[in-house]
Order: sequence, then C-alpha cells, then structure tokens
Amino acid sequence: MNTQDYISLEEQFGAHNYHPLDVVINKAEGVWVTDVEGRKYLDCLAAYSAVNQGHCHPKIYAAFIEQAKNVTLTSRAFRNDKLSLLYKKLHDVTGYDISLPMNSGAEAVETAIKAARKWGYLKKGIPDGQAEIICAANNFHGRTTTIVSFSTEDAYRNNFGPFTPGFRIVEFGNIAALKDAITKNTAAFLVEPIQGEAGIIIPPVGYLREAARLCKENNVLLILDEIQSGLGRSGKLFAYEYEGIRPDAVIIGKALSGGFYPVSAVLSTKEVLGVFQPGEHGSTFGGNPLAAAVAIAALDVLFDEKLIERSFELGNYFLERLRSIKSSHIVDIRGRGLWIGLELNVSARPYCESLMTEGILCKETHDTVIRFAPPLVITKEEINWALKRIEKVLQS
Ligand SMILES: *Cc1c(COP(=O)(O)O)cnc(C)c1O
Repeated sequence: MNTQDYISLEEQFGAHNYHPLDVVINKAEGVWVTDVEGRKYLDCLAAYSAVNQGHCHPKIYAAFIEQAKNVTLTSRAFRNDKLSLLYKKLHDVTGYDISLPMNSGAEAVETAIKAARKWGYLKKGIPDGQAEIICAANNFHGRTTTIVSFSTEDAYRNNFGPFTPGFRIVEFGNIAALKDAITKNTAAFLVEPIQGEAGIIIPPVGYLREAARLCKENNVLLILDEIQSGLGRSGKLFAYEYEGIRPDAVIIGKALSGGFYPVSAVLSTKEVLGVFQPGEHGSTFGGNPLAAAVAIAALDVLFDEKLIERSFELGNYFLERLRSIKSSHIVDIRGRGLWIGLELNVSARPYCESLMTEGILCKETHDTVIRFAPPLVITKEEINWALKRIEKVLQS
C-alpha cells in the first residue's frame, strides 16, 4: 500500500475531524519519522509536545515492555505496585502534595474543574450550584462538552450545545479584566501560562504573578493547564516558573508518557485534591500500572538527559536564528524554550506543505502561525539542518 491507498481508506472509513498533512508515518526514532514511501522527516511538532523525550525512546520503551509482561490493568478496585511509585515521583519532582492520575489531557482538565467546584462549596462556602470558574479567551483545554463550553473558538463549539454553565471568559493577559470578573462565587481561574493552540501567545511579563496575587487575595484557586507547556517544553519544568509563582493546581499530560500511552494528572495540595471521597470521581484506566511505569520512565528521561535545560538553551538558539531570516511574510517570531511560533501575514498551511517537501513536519495553528516544537532531544546540528530549509521555504 502507498500513501494514497492509506489516505483513501482513511477518507472512506474514518470521521473527518482532522485535516492532516498527507504524510503516512510508519516508523519514528528520536526527532525523525519515516513515511510509507521511505522518506525521512524531521518532526517539528512532536505530537503537540507529547513526545518531548523523542519518538520511541529506548528507556521508556523498555519500561513499557517490562510492565506489559507483568500486569497492565487492575482498575482502581484493587491496588497495583506502580501507581504509588508514580505518586511519589510526581511529588518528588514537582513538590506538589498529591496527584490524581487520568488518561487524556481533557479528562485531567475535567478533574481539575470538579475539584475546584467541590473545593469552592466545601472550603470557600460558595452557595450550592453557584461556583464560577474564570477562563481566558482563545484558550485550549480539550474537547469535552464541558470544556468546549468555555472555548471562544467557533469551530470547537458550533452545534455542540447546550453548554455547561458556570464559566466566565476574560481577555488573556489583561489583569484588570481578571480583577473585574472575580466575584464571591469564583472558585478558580483556569489558564494556560502560554497559549499553545492560540499560536504560542505569551502574556505580558508579570501577568501570571499578578493573577496569582489576585487569586490569593480573593481566595480563588489558580489552576494552570501545563499539558502542552509543561514538562520541559517551555525551557522550564513548568512555564509558570518564569513568573516565580506556585499555582494551587497544575494539569499535566502529553509528555508525561513520552508518547507511549495517554497519561495525565492533576497535581495539587491536600486541601484541594483532598476533597474527593471514594466513589466521587474515577476512571477505569486512570492510574493503571502500565501508565504509571511509562510515566515514571518518561519523567526519569526528562531529568536524566537534562532535556529541560536543553530546551531552554537550544530554544534560545533556534529563536535567534529564526529571527535572522529575512522574509516579507514574517510578522512575528516568539517562543519559550523549544516552543516557537512564527507568525506570517499569509496562510501558514502552504508553507507547512512546502516544509514537508523539504523534509520538515510542522503544523499550522490559527491559520497564520507555524509552530516549531521538535522533540527536546534535537541537536544543534539538526536545528541548523532545519534552519536552512525553513529559510529556503520562507523566502520562496
Ligand atoms: C492537548 C491539550 C489539552 C487536551 O489534551 P488531550 O490529551 O488532547 O485531551 C488540554 N490543554 C492543553 C493546553 C493542551 O495542549
């Protein structure tokens, strides 16, 4: 079967909820992927930052296979000998008291919403059914019905209502707007420290620090969605470190498994996550031993190979070199770590298609932004290799 055969099958038998580039990948290692025609590409998306550790990392693979031989799923009706080790690991590397494991990022966001609401009723004394959560415009937190209820993106919402009430939207980066939106019924402010899907939007310096202060002052939980920005992508373990703050809760996913398996978690205090009583929340696969073994290995790789520092250093290098490219189509280049948005004054899709022809896989976000987010194991030489081709495409 060739590329066209696979695409035809997909078009005929699959739902069309994505518009992928026409490349059919059948092999991947580190930063490189190979398609069914034998062509090699540098992956500059890293599965939306789920493969920060590089594709098919041998150490995560070994943990995955080893665990798959023993036990993969017990459900939480029984205990397993890996979940407790993941809890301990997450505590040790992040400093948060406790965590709650789920599978997809969206499930972890839902978990944080439920925890915040219950905290609001039990601890803050918000009248029953009145809890409000503030979110930012142009957010991306996932695709469930509740989560798209506070999306401001038509494509994510249209025809999917009725929506879950209890959310307020404020402009991202605008501290006065946040202040105005807080009421005595506000349980939480849920926000991405850097908006990834919106086009790598970095808020003004001091925004998160002020938001943290406002939240504290008003007994509102600050919950950061670091599903994409976290675990090294931004050049820090968490992007919030750039602002020297400590959110009440952090949501992680994606790179928590290095791409082997859906693993997500909410990290928080005993005061917040402690509100859940047995039976109130759960997931059949959440916290399963295979997921836990994979996540422990994925976290170990992140630290053992110093990928966070690498993201910081090589990200700065990549950003600087991109800024030296002269093209009348470039409007802005911004980023933190190996997470860079290159904004054009024209549609980015044809450029992503040209980059693919040159051997680089990127995906446009928000029509006009090309996101460069390669696995963090990328080398300087590989960045140089990519830069030559990016320059050629941007100047064509
Ligand atoms: C990807 C992402 C999610 C959703 O994660 P899924 O695993 O796709 O459900 C939520 N928030 C942010 C910031 C993300 O990037």
